[in-house]
Amino acid sequence: MAKYDPKMAAFYRRRAKARLDPEFRPPVRACAGCQRPATSSRHQLCDACREESRQRRNKVWADRGPRLTPKERGYGPEHARTRARWKPEVDAGGVACNICGRLIVQGSPWHLSHPNDDKRLEPAPAHAKCNIQFAAAVTAHRRRRERNT
Ligand SMILES: [Zn+2]
Ligand SMILES: [Zn+2]
Repeated sequence: MAKYDPKMAAFYRRRAKARLDPEFRPPVRACAGCQRPATSSRHQLCDACREESRQRRNKVWADRGPRLTPKERGYGPEHARTRARWKPEVDAGGVACNICGRLIVQGSPWHLSHPNDDKRLEPAPAHAKCNIQFAAAVTAHRRRRERNT
């Protein structure tokens, strides 16, 4: 049984009504950006706003510079080998996360992460969650610094 969803219920009610009443037109939504009538029922934004947001996004990407390959980011075959070397130990549940210091419980997702984000240091296992949080913090810090220079 599908769960009752008031949004979907309203949608089905509208559709049923549209079938019965040839004069009925579904209400025109407003664009989430400019509040003018939406140009498509599939998108939150109208064509103009969508194009604008696409260009803004492209600019952000362009400002971040060229995309690095996995190898340039330090995730080449070496990374795969290091991971393979750690795997049996981590799988056995005997390795501590190099970020929070707590045990990586058997079966929980883990990454390899350079201690203190120092690419010269040998990467070591970390909880996937810790690594993602840590990477986000490092990136935010770097962006802040870039903005201030
Ligand atoms: Zn718009
Ligand atoms: Zn951790």
